Amino acid sequence: MFTRRRCLWTLAALACASCAGGGAPDRRGPPGAPRVLSPTSYGPRGADAGGSGAFHAPRGGRAHQGFDILVRPGDAVRAPIDGTFMKYGVCYADEPRYRYVSIGAPGSVEVKVFYVERSPSLWPGAPLRTGDVIGVAQAISVRYGGRLPDHLHVEVWVRGVPVDPEPLLVWRT
Ligand SMILES: [Zn+2]
Repeated sequence: MFTRRRCLWTLAALACASCAGGGAPDRRGPPGAPRVLSPTSYGPRGADAGGSGAFHAPRGGRAHQGFDILVRPGDAVRAPIDGTFMKYGVCYADEPRYRYVSIGAPGSVEVKVFYVERSPSLWPGAPLRTGDVIGVAQAISVRYGGRLPDHLHVEVWVRGVPVDPEPLLVWRT
């Protein structure tokens, strides 16, 4: 009897802890996942003739590792998190002009934004704050003959594992 009552008290304590502060904890995604500011003011790519921009959408024999956000080529692209400019990578070995910017943050978080020509003032190791301009959007639709819209491909990695960026995104208005 005593054990059962103590168990109920424990449950009550847990319930109280979860609503401390006046509501449910504001947690999105896995533990340690950051809030990710949309790098542009446009919405999700959604689905189109070229496929779906959702996380884990099929891409031939593999799954899409990011989330696609619409953009206009030449638009400014902004840092989605606070962090350090880690890498200016090449997206496709056969067409090295398409590039991505990788931003690392404490807690083993990395956010990669694809199809971005970096700002000339950015150098590896540079500190970035959320919203800083990191470059301009490239015209990825050209590579695919216009079968898909221009977009940014955003990947969020937490401790080396890609996670769905969508629930983490904070959309610009
Ligand atoms: Zn993508």
